[in-house]
Amino acid sequence: MNKPLIITLILTTVVTTACGGGGGKDNTPTPNATFETTPNAPSNLTQKLAIVYSKTSEKNFWTPKSYAQLFMSVQTQAMMAGLPYDLLNEDDLLDINKIRQYKTLLFPLFSYVKSSQLKQISKNIKTAVTQYNVGIITAGNFLTNTETGAPIAGDSYSRMKDILGIERLDGAGPINFKIKASNTSHPALINEYANNETILSYQQNYTDYYTPTGAFNSQILATQEIEGSQNRNALITVSNTGRHAHFSTVQAMADANLLWPVLQWSLWGSKSAVSLQMGREKALVTSRVDMDQSMFSSEVSTVEIPLLNQLKIWKNRYGFVTSNYINVGNNPAEDEFTDWSVSAPLYKRYIQLGNEIGTHSYTHPHITNSLNDAQIKFEFADSRAIIENKIGLTNIGGAVPGNPEDLKTALTILPHVDYLTGGYSALGSGFPNAFGFLTADANKVYLSPNMSFDFTLIGFQKKTPAQAKQIWQQEFNALTKHARQAIIHWPWHDYGPNDTDNAGYTLDMYESFIANAKNYGSEFITGKDLSLRIKSFKDSAVDISSTANTVVAKVKSSNSGQFSLKLNSSKTISSVDKWYAYNQNTVFLDQDGGIYTINLGSPKAVTHINKLPSRSKLISLFGNGEDIRFKFSGEGIVEITTKCSNPSSINVTGGPNTYQKIDSTKISLNFPDNKRYAETTVDISCP
Ligand SMILES: [Zn+2]
Repeated sequence: MNKPLIITLILTTVVTTACGGGGGKDNTPTPNATFETTPNAPSNLTQKLAIVYSKTSEKNFWTPKSYAQLFMSVQTQAMMAGLPYDLLNEDDLLDINKIRQYKTLLFPLFSYVKSSQLKQISKNIKTAVTQYNVGIITAGNFLTNTETGAPIAGDSYSRMKDILGIERLDGAGPINFKIKASNTSHPALINEYANNETILSYQQNYTDYYTPTGAFNSQILATQEIEGSQNRNALITVSNTGRHAHFSTVQAMADANLLWPVLQWSLWGSKSAVSLQMGREKALVTSRVDMDQSMFSSEVSTVEIPLLNQLKIWKNRYGFVTSNYINVGNNPAEDEFTDWSVSAPLYKRYIQLGNEIGTHSYTHPHITNSLNDAQIKFEFADSRAIIENKIGLTNIGGAVPGNPEDLKTALTILPHVDYLTGGYSALGSGFPNAFGFLTADANKVYLSPNMSFDFTLIGFQKKTPAQAKQIWQQEFNALTKHARQAIIHWPWHDYGPNDTDNAGYTLDMYESFIANAKNYGSEFITGKDLSLRIKSFKDSAVDISSTANTVVAKVKSSNSGQFSLKLNSSKTISSVDKWYAYNQNTVFLDQDGGIYTINLGSPKAVTHINKLPSRSKLISLFGNGEDIRFKFSGEGIVEITTKCSNPSSINVTGGPNTYQKIDSTKISLNFPDNKRYAETTVDISCP
């Protein structure tokens, strides 16, 4: 808490006042310009999604952890759809007033229901659909079995038939089958999939077959091509009073990026004109480094110092940052301890580069599932306290060491850290993109690596570096295919890039991945940054409406300075009413959201920010078409397009206090240090 920070806070208060009360109250000197203000989004936004955690189904699932992974995987699809969401429990379904407020209820799996609640829950869901036009999205069986696993007496499928107009035919396995797009003129899949495109191939898997009963208007969007010939349904949409979708299996729902466009259709009846996104770039890549050698004090100089030098190179080349999770060590006789006189200043240098330090536990236990609560507290809370104290940090995150942990262990560790990155979860082993909240009651974010660990590939599977590099590229390609701002969580070890143990790793393996991710258009962010964005996203609200030439997006948020609204069509942005930060197809938001009226067409001559650097935050922004002023936090180049070409004068005050000319209509402002800057005013005179 130093003086400049206090000054910044005062300035923020001033802007908040200006925002709420209209322009003119700000004391920043802007002699020739008056600035417009954008209206704040109203609080009563109605286009809401809820995702339901069924504890009864979790208990009957393969493992509780895999149910939690499925639950998070569909949360990520909601993020891709640009849909902030609420999380509900089964008990919430007993309250019709609660569930009727949602446009869509997403049940990742709700086959199993408590006998004592069956009647009330089925009645409420039916009422929500028929009287309040709520859409239902689910996979596999729906309300068919009791908590013991037994089929519900009578026709077990009667509720599926009644509510969704869908019944089960049969199932098969293990067999080979392909999921293919079969109706690409449907609004959910249009412009997203090619007709007959293979979405996913399964080898020797089990599957289920469902069919519409004919009671309601239904369409088949994707099929399962069984053993190369026979077709069965994979994705059925049903429209009655609500817009529903049914996936044949939980895998069909979560394994590919097929759910997010279906969610948009259920909410809006078509793809939405724009999506709220958690960043401004094409993908979010968060790199996790398990610093296994950090607790061996003699290895700090041979592993962690060279790694810092490598991270410096990657930061300069690619804007790369990473999260580094360290161990403390608790056995000095075996060299297992941290010499803070060496390590503390070293990790501070990691942080100065924009990297993150978190805890990888005290002593790196390999099997966290066998630890009792006190041991877990020691490993995570005690290590966290020491790391925070020695490095001067607060509220750090953690990464689970050793083998993947079960749900109970994850939920026991979570209270001790700000957020937790845990066991790997991906296609064939859990579900891909398991990011979000482990249960409906969790209030901290959990992240699952969705790429292979470097050790798994080289140390365990004995792949060559060339093979490992190729596998990482294939995994990245699969995760980004048909994604809307994919999230990539890439795990590796401190000993890898410099192959400290001569175990066969190469620098090229890592650097190729980083270069490819950068080339794709990724934003490199830390795990803590991602967890904050996920929390902010979940707590935001958005309403979208559109006509042929205008899109209105109302965004309510308290932390959207890194978020954007991205057009879902090939149309381009002409201008945004009273808003001055956007490029061809993306509007950049500020901290408190607002109402964005986006005019489509050829670009209008308006002074606006057209580029913001990775990770930076746009705190606030005002303009009038010719001049702009804005508050910015971060580092790098902010690019501004000017209203006219070759302005007769350009005057930049505050912030970097200077600019560079890029071409006749573009200037760049360089913010060299990663910090929050004083408000920048760009005063332009056009001839
Ligand atoms: Zn480790």
